[in-house]
Amino acid sequence: MNCIFYCKQCDKEFQRKKYDVINRGAGKFCSRSCQATYKNIKYEKQYKLNWNSDIAYLLGLIYADGNVMGKPYWQVSLYSKDKEIIDNTLDILHKNSLPKPKPYHRRGSYCLSVGSRRICRALIYTGIVPNKCKSMIKLKIPNEYFVNFLLGFFDGDGCWDKKSFCLSNGSLEVLKWVLKTLKKLWNINGRIINKGSCGTYRLYFRLKDSYNIAKWLYSNNRYCLTRKKDLIMT
Ligand SMILES: [Zn+2]
Repeated sequence: MNCIFYCKQCDKEFQRKKYDVINRGAGKFCSRSCQATYKNIKYEKQYKLNWNSDIAYLLGLIYADGNVMGKPYWQVSLYSKDKEIIDNTLDILHKNSLPKPKPYHRRGSYCLSVGSRRICRALIYTGIVPNKCKSMIKLKIPNEYFVNFLLGFFDGDGCWDKKSFCLSNGSLEVLKWVLKTLKKLWNINGRIINKGSCGTYRLYFRLKDSYNIAKWLYSNNRYCLTRKKDLIMT
């Protein structure tokens, strides 16, 4: 006996064979691709990050100095030597009604750890690869929040080296992506240097561009690491 059903995704009529099991998902969709599309849309809605400038700043910090663990741990951690970064993070988490962990101190760094599947999924959805931060390449960040993300990244992994704005990272691909985005958004060029011995790469900008970047960063962000800001602005 065949019955007529309507696909949950595309609303098309289809025939369901009687041995389909409804509660396993079979029988609700006309095809496997409709089932996959439905699931993707559902997850996208459920785990979409509510973007704002502070969340983008936090993402930059996590991108530079954090770690995301996926299944089955579902844990996000952030490490920093600066107490101010930890305080800012707690403030942002509180303002966005996200879980607020207790910081602890280990090997000279402060550490924050949140066990939350929802936050991990939302972060993974932006493009962060769990368990291996070095291969986090292109993130899906709305253009208007890139300036906030960049300051988070700079506060974590950047320095002000001989009047030049500089970002360092273990992955060449990460810096290439940052440079490409800066070129696209602000028409800024830079160069990437391999720091051989310690296995990190550095992205440098010219003097004039460095001051422009600094101006943009500090006029568009509520949170920052004061230590670095004072160094640049004086
Ligand atoms: Zn369908």
